Amino acid sequence: MKWVWGVITAVVSVIVQLLILSTLGFNFFSFSMFFVIPAGGIFLGAIATFGYFYKIVRQGLKPNKNNYLMSVIFILLSFSGFMYGEYRMAYVSPSNEINYKFEGEHISHFVFGESDEPITLLNYYDYKFNNSSLSIFSRGHVSNAIDIEPNKWVNISKFLIQCVGLLIGGLCVGLLVTSGKTHCSSCKKAYLQEHKLLDVNSEMIEPVISEINQYIHNNNGEGLTTYITEQKALCEDVASDTNVKYGFKFGHCPNCQQGYLIKSCYTLDKHGNFEEQEDKKAVIPISQEIVIS
Ligand SMILES: [Zn+2]
Repeated sequence: MKWVWGVITAVVSVIVQLLILSTLGFNFFSFSMFFVIPAGGIFLGAIATFGYFYKIVRQGLKPNKNNYLMSVIFILLSFSGFMYGEYRMAYVSPSNEINYKFEGEHISHFVFGESDEPITLLNYYDYKFNNSSLSIFSRGHVSNAIDIEPNKWVNISKFLIQCVGLLIGGLCVGLLVTSGKTHCSSCKKAYLQEHKLLDVNSEMIEPVISEINQYIHNNNGEGLTTYITEQKALCEDVASDTNVKYGFKFGHCPNCQQGYLIKSCYTLDKHGNFEEQEDKKAVIPISQEIVIS
């Protein structure tokens, strides 16, 4: 039911956008940094697809091309929510100012300029892009002109950049939630479910590795389990006393059931926390007999 999660976070992104628009009168979707980086769009896009990608990775799967295509639907869902929501919330106050706080009457009760055309969803945005100012006649009473951004092409380019930001934010979440995960090299379709076995310090690593390799080589799963249990009691306490420690994990592919032994290396950073050295990670496939025991 990963798509349900996608719908939930897409709706959350719409709520965030509309709540900010209503309470602060600020269009967060159009927020950009250094004039060109569509920060608001990226952020909202990331919220929109987060649930979908998070659920896929939680199931141990690697997002594939179809998942990325599917995520575009959630991005479009958010986008439609922003556009439709803004229009539904556009009210004209008694002092003839557009607000998003439901003050006055809804904008659809008004007409543009001297025409009889009511302000619908489409021509609300059409006018927003095309006109330097938006004049509204309220049932025959002339209103003040409402200033909107002055240049049509500037408006449209800005808007397109925001949309690209939304797309980038939404798609990048797929890459972000999968970083640091170990990929099954056998089927290439899933991420390994990892179970911690034991930690050892740098003094113990050599003998422990050669023992473990021996058990793997002999397909002796029972022996390996016993050895790991023994070593756990011996090594665990002293493992964190050094600057470098090694961790062993058992990895299991939820897709093809292949088992792995994962050896990770951690070094102490300046804040006293162990940080994994990704380049020193070793992932060794192990046979089915060992996996079962
Ligand atoms: Zn696999």
